[in-house]
Amino acid sequence: MTSKIIPQPGIMDIALYVGGDSKVAGVNDTVKLSSNENPFGPGDAAREAFRRAGQDMHRYPSTDHAGLRAAIGAQYGLDPERIICGVGSDEIIHFLNQAYAGPGDEVLFTEHGFSMYRISASAAGATPVEVRERERVTDVDALLEGCSERTKLVFIANPNNPTGTMIGGNEVARLAAGIPDQAILVLDGAYAEYVQGFDGGAGLVEARDNVVMTRTFSKIYGLGGLRIGWGYGPKHIIDVLNRIRGPFNLSNAQLAAAEAAVKDQAHVEQSRAENTRLRAWLAEALAEHGVPSDTSCANFILARFASPTEAEAADTFLRARGLIVRRVTSYNLPNCLRITVGDESSCRRVAHAIGQFKAGVEA
Ligand SMILES: *Cc1c(COP(=O)(O)O)cnc(C)c1O
Repeated sequence: MTSKIIPQPGIMDIALYVGGDSKVAGVNDTVKLSSNENPFGPGDAAREAFRRAGQDMHRYPSTDHAGLRAAIGAQYGLDPERIICGVGSDEIIHFLNQAYAGPGDEVLFTEHGFSMYRISASAAGATPVEVRERERVTDVDALLEGCSERTKLVFIANPNNPTGTMIGGNEVARLAAGIPDQAILVLDGAYAEYVQGFDGGAGLVEARDNVVMTRTFSKIYGLGGLRIGWGYGPKHIIDVLNRIRGPFNLSNAQLAAAEAAVKDQAHVEQSRAENTRLRAWLAEALAEHGVPSDTSCANFILARFASPTEAEAADTFLRARGLIVRRVTSYNLPNCLRITVGDESSCRRVAHAIGQFKAGVEA
């Protein structure tokens, strides 16, 4: 039967987002290393703020997020007037596509770029355009060549997920200066806090009027389950995004936990230090077992196997031992597995299991 009820153009092109698994049937003692979560979770201050916020659940939340924006502005040295908060940074990505891209427009990203860029562009009816990378690194020349008079948004994550690689400030600045006049460069800084001293691109936002930065509380802040993110951009763009933002898009609990989290930088520093230490240890252990990876700037490692068949077998082997990592075939990386840097015991379990796998131990 053909129906006259049809969705907007682009919607049916969307392949549903597949999140990281959290269970293996029949295996106890599993550890989830498939979604780049902070293995330590949030700090005590955020946990306590979340509990307290429960007392106000009959009250509508703030519509302007003034408290959270002030706290973010103070911590990151940014103008709170140009910060917008959303239901994860995913919502900021949606706002940008909804506001600036539609049928006939192009939204650019790289071949192993974060999958939400494509999903969100398609939801807006725009045409997703993918350009090549150079050995799993964002290629500014390829992005500039991929631009046209129809390009409205250019997304890069720096560091990128799932590759873990990043490009330098000069390259990002060259990209911002080279894109067409009608286009916005979006710098996704979901992993920026894992790079000590890195501003995520905030300086470039200050210096130009065509750059937006997105950030999240889902990764180093350990609040992925609560869904809080934010964006920073020129006043004229933030004003536009606020018009399509639902007035009550964030709950009391989200706002309170995020505000407490951003004020608890000791927890961030501790999480970063542990990640840096264990990431180096894990990468080296895997390399010793013949599984190389690019130097990661984030909280995961993209482990490269000899073939898609070997990557799949390794995934099966790890799962049988309760170690849930992420296959990245949908990111055009069929011979790789993305492994979140967990706590020390998880890292040891992964290294040991990969060693057994490579030594030919039966699954
Ligand atoms: C995890 C991640 C995000 C964060 O999404 P939220 O909606 O804030 O949870 C954004 N961009 C990239 C590249 C990510 O890996």
